[in-house]
Amino acid sequence: MKSSKITDWCHHFIAEAVKEGDLCADATMGNGHDTVLLSKLTGPSGHVFAFDIQEEALNRTRLLLHTSDCPDNTTLLLKTHTEMDTVLKPSSVSCITFNFGYLPGGDHTKATTPKTSVPAIRKALPLLKPGGLMSLCIYSGKDTGFAEKEAILQFIKTLSPKDYLVLKTEYYNRPNHPPVPVLIYRLR
Ligand code: SAM
Repeated sequence: MKSSKITDWCHHFIAEAVKEGDLCADATMGNGHDTVLLSKLTGPSGHVFAFDIQEEALNRTRLLLHTSDCPDNTTLLLKTHTEMDTVLKPSSVSCITFNFGYLPGGDHTKATTPKTSVPAIRKALPLLKPGGLMSLCIYSGKDTGFAEKEAILQFIKTLSPKDYLVLKTEYYNRPNHPPVPVLIYRLR
């Protein structure tokens, strides 16, 4: 493991799940770190669709893709992740990343919300191929509050164990509402 950061923990499993030529989606583009990882893993024969509601996120991601020497395999969309199912076909995607919250160093009022995050996860799950992975980085406390974390955790608990493997991990010895990494694998 590279570090104790929640994103690095998720990236470890994403790297295991994604192969060259795969189709992937970043549901919360932000500064572009997940988009860059997916772009490199899928390579020139793959493709990554990345979503955000802020133009600032698209600009930052475009720049990071360029400076990270990524292949030309990404489509950056100024679109809410509740509309991912209008862009991607069911059972076609190897990996979907969600990193909730606000754009670091950006507008905190344009953060993800429980009202949209739960429907977005619900609509995105059938887009995964059997064996595909959805990663969730969930935050709480401070100005984020607890409603989003609670709504997401409540919803994913209801997923059928025949259809999905839901793994929720925790920073067991870390104080002050540590983030919650979740991995969801589509089983069939
Ligand atoms: N994955 C990013 C990275 O690697 O830098 C960090 C994502 S940041 C914590 C959360 C992002 O979600 C923000 O850029 C915010 O604009 C975006 N967001 C908020 N609501 C959204 C929605 N409904 N659809 C898509 N993106 C949304």
